[in-house]
Amino acid sequence: MKDVKKELENVEEEKKLVDEQLELLFKSEDVKKYFELTAKQHKLRNTENELFKKIKFEEYDNCNHIWINISEDNNVLNKKIYGCIKCGLDKRVWYTSSPTRLEIEKRAMYEYLRSCYYNKDGIQIDMPCEFELGKAIYKRIIETHPDIDDKTASIYLRAAIHNINEKNISKKRNNKILKRLSLNQK
Ligand SMILES: [Zn+2]
Repeated sequence: MKDVKKELENVEEEKKLVDEQLELLFKSEDVKKYFELTAKQHKLRNTENELFKKIKFEEYDNCNHIWINISEDNNVLNKKIYGCIKCGLDKRVWYTSSPTRLEIEKRAMYEYLRSCYYNKDGIQIDMPCEFELGKAIYKRIIETHPDIDDKTASIYLRAAIHNINEKNISKKRNNKILKRLSLNQK
């Protein structure tokens, strides 16, 4: 017990010394400058976020959305979730478990959806499609037909998604047949 008490005394003594050193350090110009700059950086980051959010909100507000049903393999929610292939507004962010950890663009989406998640304005293409693929198809349509209107673009998009999904189905079907054949061989 005596040893332990002595050890405690030593620790307390050492703590006191460290406190004194810290106090001296806080008074140094460099450290003062460091805290000043950290605070400034924090403020700038907040302003940057606010400005970015403002730009994105305006973009989402002004977009005549074309929604597709984003069916990703990792869709654990087992429900239809939509994303706009024009402005990139992705409703999957709404289901995130930790919104504060979202990166800047997804965070802006999350906050935007908070005010209008059920907004279904625009065109809805109720066909399952990977989001990145849907966006890439739309980009290609726009490149090939720069003056195309949304309605016509969505018709092209539907046809493209339909073709891709059909191909995927027949690929799956083929895989199943192949699997069955290999099983039969056993
Ligand atoms: Zn949009």
